[in-house]
Amino acid sequence: MRSSNQKTVLVTGGAGFLGSHLCDRLLRDGHKVVSLDNFHTGSRLNHLHHASRPDLEVIEADVADPLPYLRVDEIYHLACPASPPHYQESPIRTLKTNLLGAINVLNLSLRSGARVLLASTSEVYGDPLVHPQPEDYFGNVNSFGARACYDEGKRAAEALFHAYAAEKGADIRIARIFNTYGPRMQPDDGRVVSNFVVEALRDQPITIYGDGSQTRSFCYVDDLVEGFVRLMASNVRTPINLGNPGEFSMTKLAAMVVAMTGSHSSVSFMPLPADDPRRRRPDISRAESLLDWRPAVSLEAGLGPTIAYFREVVSGQSPGDRFLPLRSAI
Ligand code: NAD
Ligand code: UDP
Repeated sequence: MRSSNQKTVLVTGGAGFLGSHLCDRLLRDGHKVVSLDNFHTGSRLNHLHHASRPDLEVIEADVADPLPYLRVDEIYHLACPASPPHYQESPIRTLKTNLLGAINVLNLSLRSGARVLLASTSEVYGDPLVHPQPEDYFGNVNSFGARACYDEGKRAAEALFHAYAAEKGADIRIARIFNTYGPRMQPDDGRVVSNFVVEALRDQPITIYGDGSQTRSFCYVDDLVEGFVRLMASNVRTPINLGNPGEFSMTKLAAMVVAMTGSHSSVSFMPLPADDPRRRRPDISRAESLLDWRPAVSLEAGLGPTIAYFREVVSGQSPGDRFLPLRSAI
């Protein structure tokens, strides 16, 4: 039976790392969920544990193509590769996903009368000259570099959300997500936490790019999903930073991973990729005051279940239900 506050929620990119955790949370909250994905970096297997649930529908589609009409109450728009090696594989495809995807999703939101939330990114601040980064910082972004397809794509998506709200009355929400990690990341995803943990578990050298002094702030996936849900339920139409303000150098992260895995890995230094931001940390005072949201999971606490998950993947076991099967693990 449909309860009065049950909603039908579309999650684009629902088969990816964040999207699949978000789908789980929405199903747990009693909503009907439509996961729309082209399985570029995500996998149908991330929904396998819900295979027989009638309240989850999985649609294979590309957000850059015209979308089917769907009657939904809310849309979380996550579809886009997030890892630098993935989004740099085809910069044109990444730009199309960001630009055409945003237009298609916004038009769908207008037709169905749905509120729509964009998964934007801390990359809109580029290599920031202001630290930590508040939402009213305009950023320091190279429009002509390796990261431009993603950074400028997300900036254009934000601009499209703003334009559709101003001109057509779209009911928008914008989350600027800072580096988020956790179980169900792909072992070959290429982002730093998955790379370091997999390397440590295999006793291979930990590959630090540059001298390792660059910093990031790492948010555990459960905290991020809680922030998504609070932002969607709020009346906040301006961008909101969602991230964990703890700030770590890559050298420190590598040392934590080696210690927590009991690894014998050494450290190997590789060239720093172009335009790699020197430091990054969210100012989350807006999320604290407007959403009453702040992360609860420290990096050390979040690395525990993340390492446990990758240990099963690396040892060739199918991760259990709490982690879910991964494309590369099967
Ligand atoms: P992910 O790569 O695991 O998930 C992205 C999902 O989108 C995948 O399932 C992929 O198949 C799907 N997808 C990609 N292009 C598509 C297209 N054209 N049409 C339909 N589906 C498509 O990455 P993630 O970490 O889960 O990131 C999800 C979203 O959050 C992305 O928009 C990303 O930019 C944003 N974000 C993530 C982080 C993070 O640290 N995880 C940080 C900032 C922003
Ligand atoms: N990084 C690293 N080794 C790796 C992967 C990444 O030292 O194997 C560095 C990368 O250069 C960056 C930081 O870790 O400085 C975070 O990289 P990630 O790709 O996870 O996220 P982003 O750069 O998009 O924030």
